[in-house]
This record gives sequence, structure tokens and C-alpha cells, in this order.
Amino acid sequence: MLAALCRLLRSHAAEVDSQGLWPAAQLAACAEQGVYRWGLPREHGGLAWSEADLVRGLLQLASCCLTTTFLLTQPAGCLRRLIDSPNHALRDRYLEPLASGKIFGAVGIAHLTTSRRHLARPMLVATRRPGGFTLQGQIPWVSGGSQAEVLVVGASCPDGQQLLLLVPTSSAGVCVEPPLRMVGLSATRTGPVRFDQVRLDDEWILAGPAPDLFAQRGRAGTGSIHTSALALGHARGALSLLESEASTRAELVPAWQALEAEYAQAEQNLLALAAGDTPCTPDALRAAANSLALRCAQALLAASKGSGYIEGHPAGRYCREALFFLVWSCPQPVVAAALCELAGL
Ligand SMILES: Cc1cc2nc3c(=O)[nH]c(=O)nc-3n(C[C@H](O)[C@H](O)[C@H](O)COP(=O)(O)OP(=O)(O)OC[C@H]3O[C@@H](n4cnc5c(N)ncnc54)[C@H](O)[C@@H]3O)c2cc1C
Repeated sequence: MLAALCRLLRSHAAEVDSQGLWPAAQLAACAEQGVYRWGLPREHGGLAWSEADLVRGLLQLASCCLTTTFLLTQPAGCLRRLIDSPNHALRDRYLEPLASGKIFGAVGIAHLTTSRRHLARPMLVATRRPGGFTLQGQIPWVSGGSQAEVLVVGASCPDGQQLLLLVPTSSAGVCVEPPLRMVGLSATRTGPVRFDQVRLDDEWILAGPAPDLFAQRGRAGTGSIHTSALALGHARGALSLLESEASTRAELVPAWQALEAEYAQAEQNLLALAAGDTPCTPDALRAAANSLALRCAQALLAASKGSGYIEGHPAGRYCREALFFLVWSCPQPVVAAALCELAGL
């Protein structure tokens, strides 16, 4: 079943990128195949896949279409926050519509983790009022916001505490801005969301107010092993294309083999971390996965020569997409590792 899904994602990856097409059919097929249920507990209608199986699945999907696989992390993020929330009414109302793919949900929390952290004033402020909060400000990054019925949103309170809310995009004062044109992944329809005096009652609170709500980095959050699985899956896709080039050109074999060996080690570390072992830190894995994604894509381009530089060739797409991993969900140690590698330090 996963093989058929992979074929579907792979066969549309080029046009998703070149035409900026929202991958509706691919996401629907993922929902139909129960992808959103992989990591959910059985008592919540999930398939209770082990963490190792889950990252294996993500590796395969990401090797076929990064846009679709990245978008899967949005409803998955919403589901995880709902499961973790003490707000069972909200969980019971939204879990099944999200898990079945009936509605799309997106997440906007980077402004409390990896984005705009140097600014003196918070991006999105939640002010207490009787029975609820009023949200004012802007979230800089939400992928798939225009397709989303609900957003999981992080906000700052004037006293410095943090709040996590589920926000229906139909709420008065919520404005999903037009998507940004980006170097890659434009089909994810990523852009800012504005909040103009958005009034939400306490019933929409998922967590908080609490200090440092986002300080803990789980398996699926900022710089987590799921983000590494996407980077490694992307490297896998580029490596498979490099392998077919190398199959007829002996001069490419040493580079392909070296990258394959490095990939195998990184995948082994990923699966070990997923199983609860600690062959390395999650940040070290993410740094290695980012590096591999970038180098495998560029090796594919070098092997494809000028032909790979022409629009429409997969090598160009892989190179543009790989750049995403330098900027997406990268905690400071991962950014520092990338800069050290680039600077040869
Ligand atoms: C395609 C894409 C999709 C994304 N989707 C989502 C999503 O769905 N949900 C989500 O929550 N997040 C999402 N993100 C956000 C992502 O995870 C990162 O948080 C984001 O890429 C960080 O970039 P930034 O420009 O906001 O960083 P910032 O740190 O805000 O940097 C912005 C600019 O500020 C300046 N600057 C940075 N640090 C300093 C400093 N210390 N002092 C002075 N100036 C400084 C630099 O000039 C920099 O260019 C997405 C990002 C991308 C690229």
C-alpha cells in the first residue's frame, strides 16, 4: 500500500514544484491510507505505529515528494498537540476530522522557537479578558494556512507566559495572507497569518498559559528526528537518481558509494534514536541529515552536468528543495553546525 502511495507522490512531484500545485490528491490518498493515524494511539483511532516504523514511513514518502511529506507534518502536529492537551472537549471534536483528512490543520509556532526570537516584542500577543483571550499580531510562517480549517497557534501573554490555542481560520479577525513565492516548496502555500483583535474563549486553549511552553523539544517538534527523517528521505531520493546515473558511468561510482555509506550510517542513527537509543544527539543527527540532503542533491546536479541545471530536470529541484533544510525548524546548534561546515571550521 505504501508502495502505491509512493508511486503517486513520485509521479506528481515535478509538477507540484514547477506549477506550485497544492497536492490535494496526494494528501487525500495519504489520509485514505491512514498516514495521519500512523503515530496516534489506538484509543484515539490510531494505528499506534512504533516510532521506528513511523520514521521509516516518513523516509519513504519524503524520498518521493518533499512538498507532500512536509505538508503531512502540519495535521500531524495538530493531532499531537490535541492528544497532549488536557482539553478533551477540543480533542474529541477535532481529532477524527483531522485524522481522517476531512479537514486540514496547520501549525504556527516558529515565532516562539526558531523565528523572530531576536525581536524585543512578541509577534503574537494574547491578552486576558473575562472568559478568554484576545489575540493581536502576526504569525510569520504557516504552511497550508489557506487550506486549513484550524490552526494550532502559539502566543505570548503580556506577563511573558506562553499559550497554545486551536484557532478556527473562520474566526473574526484572522487573515491568512497570500502565500510567499519561495526558492522551493512554494506549493506548500506558506505565508503569514494576521490576527486583528481575535477573540477566543477559554474553550480553545490547548495548553498554558505557562512559562516556556515550547522549551521541551520532543520527537516531532523543532529539530526533531521527524525533521531529520524528511531531510534523510530527501537525500535518499537524490541518491537513487545518482545511482541510476552511476549505473552507466563508472567515474561516478566512488562518490555515489561514499554518499550511500554515509546515508546508511545516518539512517541507522535515526532508527536507533527512534527506538530510544542514543547513538548521537537529535541535533547532531539533524545536522548530518541536512548536510547529506544538500550534498546528495548537489552531487546529483554535478553528475547531471549542464542538463541538470535546465529547468524541469529533477537535479535542480532537489538542489532547491535541499536548501529548505538549512532554514526550516533549525534550532541554533543545528544552524551553527551548518555554518561551521560551510565555513570549513
Ligand atoms: C518553507 C517554510 C515553511 C515553514 N512552515 C512553517 C510552519 O508551517 N509553521 C511554523 O511554525 N514555522 C514554519 N516555518 C518557519 C521555520 O521553521 C523557521 O522558524 C524560519 O525559517 C526561521 O526563519 P526566519 O527568517 O523567521 O528567522 P529569524 O530569526 O526571524 O530571522 C529573520 C531575519 O532577522 C535577522 N536576524 C536573525 N537573527 C538575528 C539576531 N540575533 N540579531 C539581529 N538580526 C537577526 C536576519 O537578517 C534574518 O534574515 C517555515 C519556514 C519555511 C522556510
